[in-house]
Amino acid sequence: MTATRTPGLPAIENGLLISTNPASGAEAGRVPVADEAAVAEAVTVARQAAAWWAGLGFDGRKARLLRWRAVLADRIEELGELALLEGGKPVTDGVVEAAAAIEHIDWAARNARRVLGPRRVRSRAMVLEHSGHLEYQPYGVVGVIGPWNYPILTPIGSISGALAAGNAVVFKPSEYTPIVGQWLVDTFAEAVPEHQVFQAVHGLGEVGGALCRAGVDKIAFTGSTATGKKVMAACAETLTPVIIEAGGKDAMIVDADADVAAAAEAAVWGGMTNAGQTCIGIERVYAVAPVYDAFVAAVVDKAGKLRTGEEIGPITMPKQLDIIKRHIDDALDRGGEAVLGGRDSVQAPYVAPTVLVDVPEESSAVREETFGPTLTITKVADADEAVTKANALPYGLGGAVFGKANAIRIARRMRSGMVAVNSALAFVGNANLPFGGVGDSGFGRIHGDDGLREFARSKSVSVRRGPSLIPAMTFERTPAQVRRLIKTVKMLYARKR
Ligand code: NAD
Repeated sequence: MTATRTPGLPAIENGLLISTNPASGAEAGRVPVADEAAVAEAVTVARQAAAWWAGLGFDGRKARLLRWRAVLADRIEELGELALLEGGKPVTDGVVEAAAAIEHIDWAARNARRVLGPRRVRSRAMVLEHSGHLEYQPYGVVGVIGPWNYPILTPIGSISGALAAGNAVVFKPSEYTPIVGQWLVDTFAEAVPEHQVFQAVHGLGEVGGALCRAGVDKIAFTGSTATGKKVMAACAETLTPVIIEAGGKDAMIVDADADVAAAAEAAVWGGMTNAGQTCIGIERVYAVAPVYDAFVAAVVDKAGKLRTGEEIGPITMPKQLDIIKRHIDDALDRGGEAVLGGRDSVQAPYVAPTVLVDVPEESSAVREETFGPTLTITKVADADEAVTKANALPYGLGGAVFGKANAIRIARRMRSGMVAVNSALAFVGNANLPFGGVGDSGFGRIHGDDGLREFARSKSVSVRRGPSLIPAMTFERTPAQVRRLIKTVKMLYARKR
């Protein structure tokens, strides 16, 4: 028997990755670890399947994706139970996550033709003799590398777009959630038994690296910023395009005319759902002075009612517990105050809800991704100061604003890919809205029209429909025609406005 255990990472025994529940340590299941040859083989199989899948056209794919959606909807409770069994996630959170994923599959299936299908584009005066035709063609095989924190919704954001656009997908789930990942693949195969359009390859990070180098046509990566850089570097070797959905340190701004109770409810949920292990989780709040005291009191009241082991599940990665503890200690060492929880909040595998105030902006609890059920709340003079502080970090994923008169103006000024006004995280559930970050939070988009276009290449075709009035693109043009060209350019474009 050969067993390898890298401290802090799931164990591998006899070529099988063993997935365990972070709260109980109970085994959730085993999956075979793919070596480099197995990853290459999966991509070869995917390439054959991709030809069939693309050939089905939008309607054929739509019918099959809607069948998969129906299987997931039928078995949503089972999926919620599996997310609890493997990830320790409260079942209701798993069900909410699965519901959003189902919504995205439905949307991608129904909208792919509208967004990606062939269409005529208008010609321009200078080339009126050619009609323009545009369509978006699939890449072929897309590699999807996923994280563990939302093992259903996060990869399905990419997978649904990639499949609807006509690609086959090879998916490398997180080593912490391979069983949920394999379940997604298995249910897809029930709905689409004909070819292996959607496969999984399992293992630690190196399997993700192998996927980047296996000849896929695009990589959609979701995970930490540090790993995202490694993925980009690996993909650079073959000029393989990438989408990077990376970490965040999302801020909420509470303005003077905000509904304070609603803001507190959203901050507590946005910060502490999934035990704070949420890429778009609220980690920092900037509340303006007139509402600050009432807001802090409401947050403490609501967060204080959450129970570890119930609403607050375990921290999935053992090493994250050290990071959360370091952030809390650093905040308190620098003069911050814990108005809920404190230095002893971290009790492996749980972290109790923790609310920190008066934390200096340079402390790690404000600057780095904590990924625990913690919030910093900072008093600011006005919304301008809040925006400046919110925008001061290299991350820029999501954000939230509570207020009335200026809320949307504030939202537009936040340096992030998404902002929820008078709620937290709501944008992720609206399949029409693109999702993705700026700066250290990555680039590229999933969800919405932009998300579908990420998984297809534009293909432009121009078709001659008559003789050229001003034949410029030929060696056979005459001096008179060039003079006519100059005259036309001046007529069309020499105006000052
Ligand atoms: P991670 O970066 O440790 O791992 C993500 C995936 O990358 C895993 O499948 C892992 O096996 C793989 N990987 C590791 N090393 C690799 C390598 N060298 N080459 C290729 N693949 C490799 O991230 P995680 O801990 O699983 O996830 C948490 C992070 O993900 C947080 O930072 C969170 O904010 C972020 N996240 C972002 C989004 C988003 O949409 N922006 C969504 C969810 C999570």
